[in-house]
Amino acid sequence: MKDFLVIGAGSAGCVLAAELARRGAGSVAVLEAGPSERHPLVSMPFGLVWLMGGARDWRYKSARLSDAGGRQINIPRGKIVGGSGSINSMVWFRGRKSDFDNWDISGWSFADVEHAFEAVEARLQPTRMQGAHPLAEGLAPMLGSNRDAVPTPEYESAGVLAHNMLHTRRHSAADAYLRPSGVEIVTGVEVDRLIWDGDHAVGVLLVDGTEIRARKGVVMCAGSLATPAILMRSGVGPQDELNQHDIDTRVDAPEIGQNLHDHPGVGLHFEGAGTGYGLEPRQWLSWAVAPWRYYNGNGGRLASPTCEGGAFFNARGTGAMPDVQSHFIPFHLDSRGKRYALKSGYFADVCVCRPKSRGQLRLTSKDPKAAPFIDLGLLSDPRDLDTLVAGLTRLRALLALADFGSRRGREVHPGVDMTGDALREHVRNSVGTAYHPVGTVRLGGPVSNRLAVHGTRGLWVADASVMPQVTSANTNAPSMMIGWKGAKYISEDAA
Ligand SMILES: Cc1cc2nc3c(=O)[nH]c(=O)nc-3n(C[C@H](O)[C@H](O)[C@H](O)COP(=O)(O)OP(=O)(O)OC[C@H]3O[C@@H](n4cnc5c(N)ncnc54)[C@H](O)[C@@H]3O)c2cc1C
Repeated sequence: MKDFLVIGAGSAGCVLAAELARRGAGSVAVLEAGPSERHPLVSMPFGLVWLMGGARDWRYKSARLSDAGGRQINIPRGKIVGGSGSINSMVWFRGRKSDFDNWDISGWSFADVEHAFEAVEARLQPTRMQGAHPLAEGLAPMLGSNRDAVPTPEYESAGVLAHNMLHTRRHSAADAYLRPSGVEIVTGVEVDRLIWDGDHAVGVLLVDGTEIRARKGVVMCAGSLATPAILMRSGVGPQDELNQHDIDTRVDAPEIGQNLHDHPGVGLHFEGAGTGYGLEPRQWLSWAVAPWRYYNGNGGRLASPTCEGGAFFNARGTGAMPDVQSHFIPFHLDSRGKRYALKSGYFADVCVCRPKSRGQLRLTSKDPKAAPFIDLGLLSDPRDLDTLVAGLTRLRALLALADFGSRRGREVHPGVDMTGDALREHVRNSVGTAYHPVGTVRLGGPVSNRLAVHGTRGLWVADASVMPQVTSANTNAPSMMIGWKGAKYISEDAA
């Protein structure tokens, strides 16, 4: 029997499990529903194109977006060692310093979390991408940025991004922390719910009926969608909802599953011969030699994490702090979602840094195989729609200032003629997310500032679900920071 069970070997879970072991807190096993990350498509940055929607993705679907065209959208989440960090674009941002100060939780101001970021970065070694496409290199002039500087949410800036890649390979939390760490890694085991002794979490029940016990406790690192679902199936959640599913309530925690939010985003698609990467006939030879080039250590398009560049700016151009982030992908992305089109082009989106809209996650059944009801709440606050419309309009103007030279393409979707009310309607009917769901088990709500679940013993949550408000940029680095802080607190508190 181990001292600790960590549920989920994702971005946070890998850091947390390895750090618990390193700090001598006790023996640790991490239980992961998916398989090992040791697969060529995982280590090769461009491989994520095939990983998304495949067997290593949980392939969640949202509930109908009642304020965004009534559509259901895909929500990819990694089902693999390394979690979503094994299928993501590896874009590295801490967030904005004031994001953490605004959380207003003791122990989580920027001054408090900075050391954890530094420790994680010493292992992950994120760096500005080498060999970026000339289009990504051409972004900097659109906001007068220094060409070599990585953009930051602290002020208006554009350019090539930093990624957690090492020598053209993905370098995830699994690579940097879990292997080797002394932690037992158990793959292919899906947790249904917790086993209790009174209010003490003493182990887990797997979906196949197997019980695994722990001496000191259980740490939930299953991510913003699975962690609240497992807690609810274990009797920790809103009592009236648990009653509906015939689940005995252990702790009435009305906030679990609430406060779900993500960065809403909408993009512009550009096309043109000789612009970005794509399947136009003149690039067939380059694609044909790409594997040879990549496996000989010469990078190339297969070493691209797809999202190579980006920007932060104020949507209305008021000179105030940036309130939107743009991701720039120098690949042709078909606007109707067709995977293979014989064209080349590029794509840039706008995402709201600090969205106001909120949704919720609820169980549909106590059966662990039943997908939860995931209401992303996109655009439920109209201010997010206003910011996206203003941001797209300004993005068009800014891209016109980028140094794209002869590689400049034509906006084909939604098209430059789409402005005003038509653009507003377009945004409503096409908004998606940046794949950054957070907030369902927030710090200061169901969990204490030291990540313990209120009303229980031996139970902690340390993953993206605890963020009270999403950070202003991508969420992988903050999730790892949370794993690092979790290990510190748990090793002190469970001693
Ligand atoms: C396609 C995609 C692209 C992204 N791009 C970026 C990016 O470029 N930069 C960035 O900063 N962020 C990006 N993100 C977001 C970032 O990866 C996540 O915010 C981060 O990985 C969340 O970490 P986590 O530990 O909370 O959850 P995860 O990393 O998702 O880990 C949860 C783990 O728990 C496991 N699990 C779940 N349920 C169970 C169960 N019942 N039993 C056992 N195990 C279970 C899962 O399989 C998974 O391994 C992206 C996400 C996706 C999906």
